[in-house]
Formats: sequence, C-alpha cells, structure tokens
Amino acid sequence: MKVNVNQDACVGCGACVSICPDVFSFNDDGLAEAITKDVQAEDEDKILDAVESCPTEAISKIND
Ligand code: SF4
Repeated sequence: MKVNVNQDACVGCGACVSICPDVFSFNDDGLAEAITKDVQAEDEDKILDAVESCPTEAISKIND
C-alpha cells in the first residue's frame, strides 16, 4: 500500500505528521507529503488513523 497527499487539499495542520512521522513529513511549502515507497505493514493502522484525522480528506490510499 502507498499513500498520497493531495497538495491542493492539504492545509498543513500537521495531524498526519504527528500520527505517523515515518510516512508523512512537511515539505518546503509547509504542506504534508508522504513517502513514495510502500508503507511498512506495521504503519498501516497509523495510516488509517491519519486518513480519518485529516480535516480536508487530503490523504488517499493507493492500493497496488
Ligand atoms: Fe495536510 Fe491532512 Fe496531513 Fe493536515 S492531516 S497536514 S491537512 S494531509
């Protein structure tokens, strides 16, 4: 599983970065971005938390 952050929707609240810093980080624009490689299995629950916590529904899962 991979995840993507829609840069047009993210408002930089930081919720996803707090929940799962292994996957999400802030870019130079102050918006969140996700790692481009597959999410580790142990992080998948945190990804789901982040998806639900994002106020703008900017995070989407990409199922290969
Ligand atoms: Fe952006 Fe959503 Fe992450 Fe907040 S939780 S930083 S709005 S992607």
